Amino acid sequence: MTKEKFLARYDKLRLDEKKNYKQIDALFLNTIESEGIDFFIKNKILSRLARCEKTIYLYCQTCEKNLDSLSRVEIMALFYSYLHLSKVKKARAILTLLDLSNTSTYDEVLSGLACGKFVKKRHNPFIIKYDLTIKEKIFYLIEGIDSIIDFIKTGYDNFLLRHIYLTILNGDRYAFIGPFIKEIFINTAIYEINEYNRKVFQHCLVHEYTHLYQNQYYTWGLLKEKKEGSVWRFVNEMFADFKAYKFLGVLDRYAVQSNYCAYHLINSKTFTIDDILYRFTECTKSTKKKLISYRFLVSFCMFLIDKYGYDRINKLPAASRDYDHGHSFLKYLILYFGCDIEILLRQWKKNILTDHKPTPSQCTDDIVDCFKVEGVDDKSIILSYSAKYYLSVWDNIITYSGERLIERDEVTKHKYLKEGKFKIDKQNLKFGELDVFIHFYQYSQYYKIDLVKYI
Ligand SMILES: [Zn+2]
Repeated sequence: MTKEKFLARYDKLRLDEKKNYKQIDALFLNTIESEGIDFFIKNKILSRLARCEKTIYLYCQTCEKNLDSLSRVEIMALFYSYLHLSKVKKARAILTLLDLSNTSTYDEVLSGLACGKFVKKRHNPFIIKYDLTIKEKIFYLIEGIDSIIDFIKTGYDNFLLRHIYLTILNGDRYAFIGPFIKEIFINTAIYEINEYNRKVFQHCLVHEYTHLYQNQYYTWGLLKEKKEGSVWRFVNEMFADFKAYKFLGVLDRYAVQSNYCAYHLINSKTFTIDDILYRFTECTKSTKKKLISYRFLVSFCMFLIDKYGYDRINKLPAASRDYDHGHSFLKYLILYFGCDIEILLRQWKKNILTDHKPTPSQCTDDIVDCFKVEGVDDKSIILSYSAKYYLSVWDNIITYSGERLIERDEVTKHKYLKEGKFKIDKQNLKFGELDVFIHFYQYSQYYKIDLVKYI
């Protein structure tokens, strides 16, 4: 067996993991039996063992014997393997081997491991793990998971994993997927128990599942140029959000909010087209831009749907299989759209700036009944609101001073609340007044607040 032959066989089988799982297990076990573990070490493909249920223990054991010589990828694979095996203490210990200064993912995971003991619950095809201390919340959030199962059984052209591992953490960060064993992680500390947050949870779950689906098609082999990594991420996130809003049944309604957000973010030059396309990954690493960088994804997706039709966009990942895989990801997009994606983004930008400028007259309903200055100190002003719906100061409330979009420090974190607070830096207030746009699905509301006496 050569490395190339092993990888080619594995890549072919993994195109349908549900059907081929027995052959995948056999491929790994037989290769270990005939070639020995050295085959994986010598060929620098040891971390592949962390992708197979049957060899994940062996992977951990092998790594433990060679901790000093592990590569970064191997350490990451070991970390996720321990997490998958619910060995929280071991997972924590392994992170001390890594320089984490440049990554946020592990920070996100660690914040969620605070309690430490997982409970397992099966709900086919889901295998759900959660911390015992948050049991009540989890039961509330996963109610309605059957409708997600129906959606993924019918909406992903027969793609269904044998098991969908879902690990629910109690951290205050975001959701993500495990890069080795296919696993979805969702942090839930930010969710208070309410119906809106259950929808946010469902949104996360469908969004992350869609990443697993897309990653079957968009393999790393498609990334030939460095800048393609960012384009890949942008398209991947756009499609994941598109599916999540489709599941929630609010795609058209949310598109209105997304268009308004896109207007604010582009008009204030918070994002350029180059940022969106070629620096999207960098933007999502910055805590402040991370949340808002997802807000315009549905807007662009709906622009594509208007232009190409729903079915064509829905088939974007799966259709890549019919193209010659000698191409790069960018080339695939050109072939599929008949046009460079950068040109499409520039057309979309023009469309947003001319047709989607939010105006006060668009208010059709009062979302917020009280929006006021709550307190002032040397550096900042604290604003508070009380609303009819659960809102987030990042997602739904957009503030301007003059032409400049205001960055907000969250006082109440990224929670969806009916009553919330946020803090803005006095330095950012150019004209002593603040324009506040509040968007929630198709509703839009506008406030102008005089701040001269506070600055
Ligand atoms: Zn995502």
